[in-house]
Amino acid sequence: SKDAGRNTLHFFDPAMQRGLLERNALESDLRDALNQGQLELHFQPQMSINGGIYGAEALVRWHHPQRGMVSPVEFIGLAEETGLILPLGLWVLETACRQLASWATQPELAHLTLAVNVSAKQILQPNFVEQVLHVLASTQPNPHHLKLELTESLLIDNLEDVVGKMKALKLHGVGFSLDDFGTGYSSLSYLSQLPLDQLKIDRSFVMHIDSQDRAMAICAAIISMAHSLKLRVVAEGVETEAQRYILNTVHHCDYIQGYLYSKPLPIAGFETFATQHLGA
Ligand code: C2E
Ligand code: CA
Ligand code: CA
Ligand code: CA
Repeated sequence: SKDAGRNTLHFFDPAMQRGLLERNALESDLRDALNQGQLELHFQPQMSINGGIYGAEALVRWHHPQRGMVSPVEFIGLAEETGLILPLGLWVLETACRQLASWATQPELAHLTLAVNVSAKQILQPNFVEQVLHVLASTQPNPHHLKLELTESLLIDNLEDVVGKMKALKLHGVGFSLDDFGTGYSSLSYLSQLPLDQLKIDRSFVMHIDSQDRAMAICAAIISMAHSLKLRVVAEGVETEAQRYILNTVHHCDYIQGYLYSKPLPIAGFETFATQHLGA
């Protein structure tokens, strides 16, 4: 039949075969990466309205021995599908918290905050709260300087569970940020139910803010709504001075993150950047 023909074609399709091999190879390489120290955090500055540094977002990087630098876009999805995101996410959190604790000992850097991406699979683990508390206890950062970034899609079916875990960690000072706001299954009801501290406007709105009236209207509305809910707002993907001006000066967006100031930097480069942008 036609279907059988299609299946056969699929099965012997060399491109598909390659895709599978590629995937399996990447998965086993990612396992090794964790054990062999091939992962690294880069730090992208987040700036205050006055142009001084507020903190950073930690973004994972993979130095693959043959492929070179592999983008998280290529392996976070796979890590989530395979469950590797659990040890990977734990490594990211521990490394980030150790970094925060180290900044706390350097007077010029002691005020910095650090945002860490947390995937759905991680927060939905029954022992997530205990794991985070264990990392905090073993690395000793100021928990008030730690922001966990959650994405909207993970919250839909598990609102009660997630809210409970957020509240438990907030008692210890940990903050929460809603990432990529405005994409996916945005529901305004989340905003009233989740104990958030920050909201991040997605780059897809920011990138058109200086050319499309509708993108500008959406950003303005998000910022004013967030402020009336007592949330701080981070704009991500800010690349031009025109975008910064509209966000900061016109609409009072609290923090700016994007190539306008800096790409994500290795630790030494970030610390140099931070000491050069201490602000008023
Ligand atoms: P994200 O959380 O939305 O992070 C922002 C992404 O936008 C980063 O890509 C960053 O390098 C990029 N970016 C920042 N400013 C600009 C800009 O001005 N212009 C443009 N064009 N891009 C900008 P990156 O580092 O490749 O990370 C991609 C995604 O991978 C992240 O998106 C996040 O969803 C995920 N990711 C990265 N690190 C982790 C991690 O440790 N854990 C988890 N679960 N996900 C991570
Ligand atoms: Ca993020
Ligand atoms: Ca984001
Ligand atoms: Ca984004």
